[in-house]
Amino acid sequence: MTATSLPGRVRLVQVLSSPHSGSTILGVILGSSPEIFYSGEMDRIPVPVWGTGLLCSCGQPTAECPFWSAVRGGFERGHDTSRLVAGQRQFEPWSSLRRTLAASVFRSASLRTHACETVALLQKVSEAAGKPIVVDSSKLAGRALVYAAARSERFDVRYLHVVRDGQAVFASRKARLTRFPEQGIDPEAVSFATRAAVRWVIANIAFWLLFSWRRGRYLRLHHEDFVRDPEGTLQRIERFLGVSLAIPLAKLRNGTSFPVVHVPTGNRIRLTGEVRFRRESPSRNSLLPAAQQRAFWRVAGGLERLFGYGKGTSPPETVPAATPSGP
Ligand SMILES: [Zn+2]
Repeated sequence: MTATSLPGRVRLVQVLSSPHSGSTILGVILGSSPEIFYSGEMDRIPVPVWGTGLLCSCGQPTAECPFWSAVRGGFERGHDTSRLVAGQRQFEPWSSLRRTLAASVFRSASLRTHACETVALLQKVSEAAGKPIVVDSSKLAGRALVYAAARSERFDVRYLHVVRDGQAVFASRKARLTRFPEQGIDPEAVSFATRAAVRWVIANIAFWLLFSWRRGRYLRLHHEDFVRDPEGTLQRIERFLGVSLAIPLAKLRNGTSFPVVHVPTGNRIRLTGEVRFRRESPSRNSLLPAAQQRAFWRVAGGLERLFGYGKGTSPPETVPAATPSGP
């Protein structure tokens, strides 16, 4: 059955990754397909996207963006937004993962109700976009379990697990903190590296253990492969999804830019209107002091090795994977 063969059917592709793993640019590239809409991080809809303070990639505040206003209007005609928010808070945060897993195993009615509400929102997104496939880059295993609980004749889900070298993820997080400092975080502290390693390990182990056994629904990719060989990686995704990615592939080959259409959350690069894929090759280790490298490796070294990353070696070409495409 193809994505479009059943009216009202929605297919959801969730990109599972740690933050700073290139999910925004991957979503934007996939979203240039006529069948795919990239929605950003859906766990942030309705809160904070339908409130104030965020900018959509179209340049409008998210609360006033015509696309998201249409989605909201359609959803609120038949559904209670406060129930959706309550379900998100109950089942989706990392702190709720054990509860959500238990609810999933025992097929809890409240999880199923939340899953149905979530799919109802996705159907409105798909209708407003006029595309049958939605890509969500929420980085939450709990939300992925909600999608698994929602599967039906009218809703299908696939998981793209994007792994990036944990030390490069940490270096990227540090670089962002330099530009946008956060209270209470010392980017040079060894303890900061340790906490980042714990988060990277927990997220990637959870994505792997909970979803990799779902045959035909899970594909693991390496961010570094995507940056080094974007066309080959897109062709793998094309076979996995069973959807033509001819247009994104042609754009990559031609070096043309990708429009960013109504993406309300994610990397700030979305605010530039359109992005062009490019490669850079900074050394992972030149970005981290030795004490932080050691601290990170003590926690995450085992999993790094398992994913094929070595200690003390520079990764293949890495951040950033995109650049604004100015006029
Ligand atoms: Zn918009």
